Amino acid sequence: MVDFADLTLADVQRGLLEGRFSGSSLLDHYLHRIRETSYLNAFLEVYEAEARQKMEALDQKIKDAPESLGKLFGCVFSVKDMIVLKAHEVTAGSRILNGFKSMFTATLLQRMLDEDAIIIGRTNCDEFGMGSANLHSYYGPVGNAQDPHRVSGGSSGGAAVSVQAGTCLLAIGTDTGGSVRQPAAMTGTVGFKPGYGMVSRFGLVAYASSFDQAGIIARSPADIDRVMEVISVADANDATMKTKGLYATQSAAVKDKCRVACFAEAIEGAGVNQEVRQRFNDFVHHLTEAGHEVVSVEFGLLEYLVPTYYILTTAEASSNLSRYDGVRYGYRSSEAGNIHDLYIQSRSEGFGTEVKKRIMLGSFVLSEGYYDAYFSKAQKVRTLVRNRIEAIFSDFDFVALPTSPVAAWKKDEKQTNPLSEYMADIYTVLASLAGTPAVSVPAGNNSEGLPLGIQLIANSGDDKKLVKFTEHITNWHNF
Ligand code: GLN
Repeated sequence: MVDFADLTLADVQRGLLEGRFSGSSLLDHYLHRIRETSYLNAFLEVYEAEARQKMEALDQKIKDAPESLGKLFGCVFSVKDMIVLKAHEVTAGSRILNGFKSMFTATLLQRMLDEDAIIIGRTNCDEFGMGSANLHSYYGPVGNAQDPHRVSGGSSGGAAVSVQAGTCLLAIGTDTGGSVRQPAAMTGTVGFKPGYGMVSRFGLVAYASSFDQAGIIARSPADIDRVMEVISVADANDATMKTKGLYATQSAAVKDKCRVACFAEAIEGAGVNQEVRQRFNDFVHHLTEAGHEVVSVEFGLLEYLVPTYYILTTAEASSNLSRYDGVRYGYRSSEAGNIHDLYIQSRSEGFGTEVKKRIMLGSFVLSEGYYDAYFSKAQKVRTLVRNRIEAIFSDFDFVALPTSPVAAWKKDEKQTNPLSEYMADIYTVLASLAGTPAVSVPAGNNSEGLPLGIQLIANSGDDKKLVKFTEHITNWHNF
């Protein structure tokens, strides 16, 4: 009996080619795990019949024409409910898109499908990606497989749990301010956000367009590397895509002695849980033992990161979400007697509280009287953050930070104070403001057995170097 739980994509492909197991038996295993863990609410829809049909065709191809197999054959993955697949429902975790089916497939998914990867289902998430705990989905919260009473992290909570619970090999999520990295940290998985412009956003439901990126959650960084080779390809449908310096052309070389910066004020901060701090210090110790050089530097802008992020993203969201009017997509109120009421009623009934709060905040910071005081100032701070991080990378290979100041909290905690949920994003929004690649790496469990993560950030254009360094680190089994 093969234990599918710990296999990397390379193991799966070897096993399939050597005939040790069939694709269909692998898929059966995943479908069985989905049923066994359905109480976690990670999946909104399972494409069972379709996946079976594709897998049978793949098994046939392995027998008949192994030379024509795509680069991702045997890769069974889940897709966050923020990325469109032709003729399939996509709701962004919202009532307002309930029943909406896409007319096209996102570029990154198409690339993966073209290389023989198979989608197993659509995963739950915070409404329009707005949240850090997956408590803001219209379709209910996602439980952490380690303790179902605790949150999965968010907004890609379903994606992270789909990997944590062993229901697929890897997951595609989206990350605007940490939504791939933070749930990865809370589920003991690896979560990678590519640099801005490395992967096409065509087919992503927009939250804040100058921040949004598709990302990958996996058990092994080697799998992330394989997928990035396939999805980081220029796309004429996304004008913000880079055309040069894409993943496959980047250097994979990692120096024996890397220079890693960490920010003293981030580690010593009052909001950081003691065990998170301890684990981070252990990590620094391991880095040093392995011959790398870790230097504590002052970042200087830490307290501005969360406010800047929330001003800019709510502004962009208020504009992006204006398209949901009850006429063109999904949900339409049946109460309205005229067109004006139709807009108001559909939006009032279709959007959840968190989304409404952000639309109001975004409209406020963009309003004539407050634009200069908030939006335009936040843009200036974003430039300062970018300049600062650029200066740091002129001297360092990576920046190391905890991914989250705390481990997964109980589902009923934090409800009374929304600001504390926003503050939990303090370490992840940096790479989103700067547009740089970043990854969350599992860093063992705390004393309650809950996963913790360490985040590494690299300079723009160093996505591959970051993934390769992550491979190097995850080989330290005792860390
Ligand atoms: N928690 C952050 C927010 O609510 C990040 C979300 C994300 O990356 N999609 O905006």
